[in-house]
Amino acid sequence: TSPPRYVGRFAPSPTGPLHAGSLVAALASWLDARAHDGVWLVRVEDVDFTRNVEGAAQIILQQLAACGLHPDQPPVWQSQRGALYQQALDALIGADRAYPCGCSRSDILAVLASENRLPARGQEAIYPGTCRSGLHGRSPRSWRLRLPDDDGQPLIWFDRRLGEQSQILSLECGDFVLKRADGAWAYQLAVVVDDAEQGVIDVVRGEDLATSTARQIALQRLLGLPTPRYLHTPLVRGEDGEKLSKHQGAEAFEPGLDSVKAALAVLGFELHAHTLPELLAQAVSAWRLRWGGEAVPTANAGG
Ligand code: GLU
Repeated sequence: TSPPRYVGRFAPSPTGPLHAGSLVAALASWLDARAHDGVWLVRVEDVDFTRNVEGAAQIILQQLAACGLHPDQPPVWQSQRGALYQQALDALIGADRAYPCGCSRSDILAVLASENRLPARGQEAIYPGTCRSGLHGRSPRSWRLRLPDDDGQPLIWFDRRLGEQSQILSLECGDFVLKRADGAWAYQLAVVVDDAEQGVIDVVRGEDLATSTARQIALQRLLGLPTPRYLHTPLVRGEDGEKLSKHQGAEAFEPGLDSVKAALAVLGFELHAHTLPELLAQAVSAWRLRWGGEAVPTANAGG
């Protein structure tokens, strides 16, 4: 049999129950998979053990099931997949694309301050490259990716909703962490390894992750992995205008017709069915009309 044409996934971090915003991303990825007669996977992204909340993954899986969103295979757990991440890190080390870093956060901020490059509020610190040329006698803490030289050229990629996107990784990200000082695998590495290993062809997720996509494409290229298509969905904002986030205690949604209707409205569909199965069936048809069957542009070659 030929491999499936469409494999999508929802990849929640078990930092708390799903809220109205994460339901939008879950529903969109499920709809896209169903509209393409594809396979839909759920992956529990529990690599960041400092943020995991006991029991949250089970609650998330129950919330999804209560909304009629059933994965086609048993969920995988990133905490069980360290060997795969280690293999990828070893491959990068072997190709001199990863290096050990001895800098603490305050070391990094001190260098950035001396260069007048401190991050603005809410921005990530861009690694100044201190350990690129070796540890100079310090002990290794984390592992970082040695970004390819991009000469200030942007990495360009295509989002099905947002259109062309670009990021200059050397200026906007710098050499990012692959494995943290506390031993946790970084999200960027785990997500790239897992999407490829699970054969994910279509990534549908919240727009807050659009700024991670260029880093993930860079990693895919260095690891010789294919780049999926991307669709980033609108975020739900709280009364304060901030995006809802689990670790800031956004409320769990109440599974059922009304929550799914509200999530569909965020995705631009006003549907009026009276039962959940009816609503989901209407939503799949509406989704297929809007997002099904379009051409498949991907990221720019090279880089
Ligand atoms: N685990 C990530 C999160 O919950 C999502 C990762 C992804 O969809 O790529 O924010």
